[in-house]
Amino acid sequence: MPTFARRGKTKIQYKTMKQAKFSTPVRENVVLAPYTSFNIGGPARFFAEPKTQEECISLMEEARHQRIKVFILGGGTNTLFHDKGFRGLVIRPQLKKVCVTENSIIAESGAPIAQVVQAAAKHSLSGLEGWIGLPGTVGGAVRGNAGANGVETKDLLTSATIFDLKKNRIEEYSQKNLKFSYRHSFIKNKPELLLLSATFTFQKKLETKKQQEIMKEILTKRLSSQPKGKNAGCMFTNPTRVHANRRVPWGKTSVDPDSAQLCISAGKLIDECGLKGTRIGGIEISTIHANFLQNIGAATQKDVLSMITLIKKNVYNMRKIRLHEEVQVVEY
Ligand SMILES: Cc1cc2nc3c(=O)[nH]c(=O)nc-3n(C[C@H](O)[C@H](O)[C@H](O)COP(=O)(O)OP(=O)(O)OC[C@H]3O[C@@H](n4cnc5c(N)ncnc54)[C@H](O)[C@@H]3O)c2cc1C
Repeated sequence: MPTFARRGKTKIQYKTMKQAKFSTPVRENVVLAPYTSFNIGGPARFFAEPKTQEECISLMEEARHQRIKVFILGGGTNTLFHDKGFRGLVIRPQLKKVCVTENSIIAESGAPIAQVVQAAAKHSLSGLEGWIGLPGTVGGAVRGNAGANGVETKDLLTSATIFDLKKNRIEEYSQKNLKFSYRHSFIKNKPELLLLSATFTFQKKLETKKQQEIMKEILTKRLSSQPKGKNAGCMFTNPTRVHANRRVPWGKTSVDPDSAQLCISAGKLIDECGLKGTRIGGIEISTIHANFLQNIGAATQKDVLSMITLIKKNVYNMRKIRLHEEVQVVEY
């Protein structure tokens, strides 16, 4: 039976998840790197890909029972795992149903955003054209209020179904209750909350052919302005106008980021510091888009964290603006 030291003191004995009865296999020591777009991360102690909501919930309940921490993984396009991996259970929900009604789409959390975008276009529901090429799943998009070309998750999402492990029940959240703001939602940093599905409601209709034309143009633009290869998209969120103008370090003010228009791109700030092309270990600041960190070899989380420190220091020294990570850095 495996044992792990917790906080370097007490030794806690975990039962193996395999002893519990699940129709989904719970695998052990699964290397996480291939499940992320960064291709970084050691093995998860336990790893499961449940296909039903019930199975996701029983896995979470069993993990709590055995005092095993849980990480929910979507498409892994905004996640940076630890080099030692994850000392708990990684659940990668394979809930991919997308159901279209007259003016709405109900999508399960593991459905790729691409699937939702295509379903909307197919049924002439307009609003998501700007999301063409946005990677990841519905779960990741809702949690981080993902957005592109002026449309954020909060603009179309009307409700979400969430399992709350602490309360041990499924709850329906309205858009308001999800407290969205720039790259933020109520479910962020709450590992006890598992998004099961989300409903997107559309106000406009536009014929499929026209949508496909618009999407083609947007995709071409996206592909030419972003580097290919192993990365996790933008490493930092964009500082808001208030923070930039008043030279107030972000996080030291009560200003609601939602009320502050975005004005400076983090990529531009990094570029202005002359950092494009800088390398640490296997990590390079993209020469195409300075907010993208590229894994150009066998990059480690340690390399990425060193690069984050270097970038933050340079940007702060130059503009007195503090950058904050958009990518979720997961502890071991
Ligand atoms: C090339 C590239 C371009 C990108 N462009 C954009 C862009 O234009 N705009 C943008 O906003 N983002 C962009 N991103 C970032 C990323 O695609 C989005 O943040 C996306 O929404 C993340 O989804 P995911 O499923 O991959 O999340 P993951 O990386 O798998 O997870 C991210 C977080 O969400 C949580 N999570 C995932 N599923 C659930 C669930 N069911 N319940 C609860 N929590 C969950 C995870 O625990 C984790 O904390 C880009 C990334 C890449 C690699």
